[in-house]
Amino acid sequence: MKLPAAVYSMLGAVPVTLKEKIRFEKRYPFGLFRFDSRAIEVENKQCAAAQLAALCHEMTHVALYDAGVPNALSDDAVELVCDAVGTYIAAAVQAGYIKLQVPKGNTGV
Ligand SMILES: [Zn+2]
Repeated sequence: MKLPAAVYSMLGAVPVTLKEKIRFEKRYPFGLFRFDSRAIEVENKQCAAAQLAALCHEMTHVALYDAGVPNALSDDAVELVCDAVGTYIAAAVQAGYIKLQVPKGNTGV
């Protein structure tokens, strides 16, 4: 499945970029939402299902961040919510219950 070039946010589209290696602090995650630049990165070495799961996890970070939720939850709690919701959305997309519809002009990455 081709990932969209950007995902929805009520604060404006968030660009999605495939990267060979993502570094955050001392870790190498499969995906990352860079809060400062409002951009999502997904590691391109993973299989399509893992890339989709990473994207959905990072989309959940966008939703929580836009709503101010990280101000009220610990980092560990935010990660648990993103894992749960992101996994649910990715599984529902793969099962055909949710369709990732890319708007015109959003050509995918
Ligand atoms: Zn996360």
